[in-house]
Amino acid sequence: MKLIFFGTSGGIQTKTNANVCFLVADEELSVLIDVSGNPVQYLERAGVDPQTLDALVLTHSHTDHIYALPSLIHNLWLMKRDKPLSIVSNPFTLERAKELCACFSLLSKENLFQIDWIRDTLGGIELFPVAHSTPTSGVKISSSRSCIIYSSDTSPCKTIISAAKGSKALIHEASNTSEFEGRLNSAGHSSGRQAGAAAKEAGVKKLFLCHFDPQYAQNQDKIVRESKSAFAGEVIIPELFRAYEV
Ligand SMILES: [Zn+2]
Repeated sequence: MKLIFFGTSGGIQTKTNANVCFLVADEELSVLIDVSGNPVQYLERAGVDPQTLDALVLTHSHTDHIYALPSLIHNLWLMKRDKPLSIVSNPFTLERAKELCACFSLLSKENLFQIDWIRDTLGGIELFPVAHSTPTSGVKISSSRSCIIYSSDTSPCKTIISAAKGSKALIHEASNTSEFEGRLNSAGHSSGRQAGAAAKEAGVKKLFLCHFDPQYAQNQDKIVRESKSAFAGEVIIPELFRAYEV
């Protein structure tokens, strides 16, 4: 299973990093997880034909995770897509996503490709609730060969541990260092140390960190160090546009 990150920033973008958005793909399934920035450009730049995308997962309706949805649909429509696209999310987020599309009258475009709005589960995609400030879903993506879990935005949460048991890789938010845990947890976020603790408890081999606060540039080493102090496996700060095999 291939994993390509297009952005790993938290709510505030930086000069070199977009909001969290990434692709999970293999021969069976091609799924974009959350949608920020310029999604069609991201896919093209990564050498992925945007028309091969099977599904988009929206973890929640906070701006930084959903704002580029109209642009994705508009681009695919202009490119004359004829393959259906599944949009998978929890019921609350699906409604917000439809409202966002309605702002641009996108769903009534002539010859618009079929959009299937799917609640929580589709084939190898399975959503589960996590602990954030609006209805938010973690994501499990499974194929016959591999399995990846994504925490989305969350404070430490048992559903992630249950979902990640037996999988090789966990993608977990690590907004900042442990000294900010009080503020982070009350806002529905986690530290690098807590991401490491989740990876250890779940028994995964690899931990990818994302959703960094803007001070991340100064704190990156400490976030990684704190994750490693809690988790003996591999801790990865994703390099954007690099394809990781999981
Ligand atoms: Zn959020």
